[in-house]
Amino acid sequence: MEHYINTPIKYVKGVGPAKESSFSSELGIMTLGDLLYYFPFRYIDRSKIYLISEIREEMPYVQIKGKLSNLQTLGSGRSTRLSVLLHDESGSIELVWFAGIKWIREKLVYGKEYIVFGRPSLFNKRFNITHPEIEAIDTEKEIITNIKLQPFYNSSEKLTRRGLDSKGIAKIIYQAVKNASGLIPEILPPSLLKKYQFVSREKAIQAIHYPENLNQLETARKRLKFEELFFIQLRLLKQKLIRTEKVKGHVFVKVGEKFKRFYEENLPFVLTNAQKKVMREIRSDMGSGKQMNRLLQGDVGSGKTLVALLGMLLSVDNGFQACMMAPTEILAQQHFNGISKFLQGLDIEVELLTGSTKTKKRRVIHEGLLNGKLQLLIGTHALIEDTVQFKELGFVVIDEQHRFGVAQRAKLWNKSKIPPHILVMTATPIPRTLAMTLYGDLDYSVIDELPPGRKEIKTHHFYDKNRLKVFGFMRQQIEEGRQVYVVYPLIKESETLDLKDLEDGYESILRDFPRPKYQISILHGKMKPADKDFEMARFAKGETQIMVSTTVIEVGVDVPNASVMVIENAERFGLSQLHQLRGRVGRGAEQSYCILMSSYKLTSDGKKRLQTMVDTTDGFEIADVDLKLRGPGDMHGTQQSGILDLKIADLVKDEKILKFAREKAIELLELDPHLSLPENKQTSIHLQKMENRSRNWIEIS
Ligand code: ADP
Ligand code: MG
Repeated sequence: MEHYINTPIKYVKGVGPAKESSFSSELGIMTLGDLLYYFPFRYIDRSKIYLISEIREEMPYVQIKGKLSNLQTLGSGRSTRLSVLLHDESGSIELVWFAGIKWIREKLVYGKEYIVFGRPSLFNKRFNITHPEIEAIDTEKEIITNIKLQPFYNSSEKLTRRGLDSKGIAKIIYQAVKNASGLIPEILPPSLLKKYQFVSREKAIQAIHYPENLNQLETARKRLKFEELFFIQLRLLKQKLIRTEKVKGHVFVKVGEKFKRFYEENLPFVLTNAQKKVMREIRSDMGSGKQMNRLLQGDVGSGKTLVALLGMLLSVDNGFQACMMAPTEILAQQHFNGISKFLQGLDIEVELLTGSTKTKKRRVIHEGLLNGKLQLLIGTHALIEDTVQFKELGFVVIDEQHRFGVAQRAKLWNKSKIPPHILVMTATPIPRTLAMTLYGDLDYSVIDELPPGRKEIKTHHFYDKNRLKVFGFMRQQIEEGRQVYVVYPLIKESETLDLKDLEDGYESILRDFPRPKYQISILHGKMKPADKDFEMARFAKGETQIMVSTTVIEVGVDVPNASVMVIENAERFGLSQLHQLRGRVGRGAEQSYCILMSSYKLTSDGKKRLQTMVDTTDGFEIADVDLKLRGPGDMHGTQQSGILDLKIADLVKDEKILKFAREKAIELLELDPHLSLPENKQTSIHLQKMENRSRNWIEIS
């Protein structure tokens, strides 16, 4: 029974070699099972036949019935069109074709009754329908009586040329669903199926393609959404389970001298309650004998880095090395400076390793790592190179996790016999649902509180024509001793056009803020690392008052005296980017400001983004809006992550089902960790199939 659903697509009725290759190359449909899980994106109620007089502009589609007259070919050459009138008792409407004229003309017969289906549009105050579906009533009878909600499938031009437009796909699926009757195995555990009264898999698949009514469709959707999310969670949780069963972890129970001294002597403030809570979670992981794999979420400035540092100190106290990997040189440098300062007098060896570390220095670092003298290493991707070998690596922090791939994460793992504890952090929060899916195999900590005494950043939106006012405000802040960022969008670092924006902006700021009274820094991705460092350092030391930059300063950069963030063309930035940029100010005691500049031309999404920024400074709230606006696929560079290619569930709308599915997956694995009970056999087989598939997928890509 199981193998029937794995039937290669070419053996499915109605699929020849040409369609087979279209299915696989265009839609990734290889088997009957894939085909059955190719769900419609919309349904049209075909049970309703309207009168022509009932047609309204806002109707996306209508179905009408009538007889034909006035068939004529109009125009000539490229603008030739076929026109015919369809009449019913209430009036008439023009049907128009621009293509396939000859074929349609031969098909149409006066006096016969036709069913016509299409999108009405208003032309010269009269409705017409261009390229409608039209069928003489006798042949369409079966469909009219049997199919009430007609499914529509996503197609493409290529597919359409192979006869696989929505209708062509529908036909093949209709037959396939019929033939598969009695042959589709249930894959949800029977206990779940019964307890929550889900409709069977077979019924759900039938109903999702050919629902008899909306109720039935809803029941099917609910089950299939649950199924989809349940198996994703099962997979993630099972990976986690296997990992914790197989992989031992270092046991760090000791709170030693370094940690204590840092805490008592060097730490210039008290931890927030949220930071304390997360430290407890981390310590309990580290003492458990299992490898820690934890995601730490917290808003910009919530003090994640500090928590990470405390974790590293625990590792050192227990005789192990630790490292922290950041996505850019600037950020790595910044972490290095900050951490070195924090650790003054504690007699801990810290080094920085990036792409631009000199060979000689590099050799010294490699040696120190191998003999164990070097205890903490901060750096960029350079850390994961094979030449970097530790004596005993106990703890790894990955900052701005979303910028690294899974493979890179894994590489750090293999740097010691017993894999190190791992703490990953995101730059700005991501919504819980997304975290649960993307990082569902990790444990989860959140810092949901900012250190006390922070003044809320004031955010304003200005149109470009008010630039002088903004410049005036900048001058005033600089008078008061503050510093200012002016950021230009740079979608791709290679786009010369964007660089021109930045250079023009720089020129205009030079005019309005003349030397020597004002000193201005400029920073962009095309500069040499040394030049970047130089400019960054000048600004950090207060030698320059304005930093004109692209988004290279987006993450992490920490200059507490900077109190104004001006973002040019703010409408071109994504929400999490805007939030991250805004987080560059408000790091000191002064009142800080974020000024969003835009043109008048704003899309509705653009407007919503800017308004959200003005309305709230809460990163978790912003993340939710972002997810709603963009959908999960576009967030945080997650496009490559196949895990978000959901067929039916929706991480925005189906949060409840997701949480429920995760809960049920946890419960199932508690009862049957290896899915070895006979009643869970099909569940296990299906999971295995999913795993094999994604493994192949990783190997291919
Ligand atoms: P994140 O990495 O979460 O954006 P950081 O760790 O960089 O935040 O912390 C932001 C700033 O707040 C840093 O200057 C840090 O020293 C400071 N900070 C961290 N924790 C506290 C605290 N409990 N009280 C006061 N200041 C703190
Ligand atoms: Mg940070």
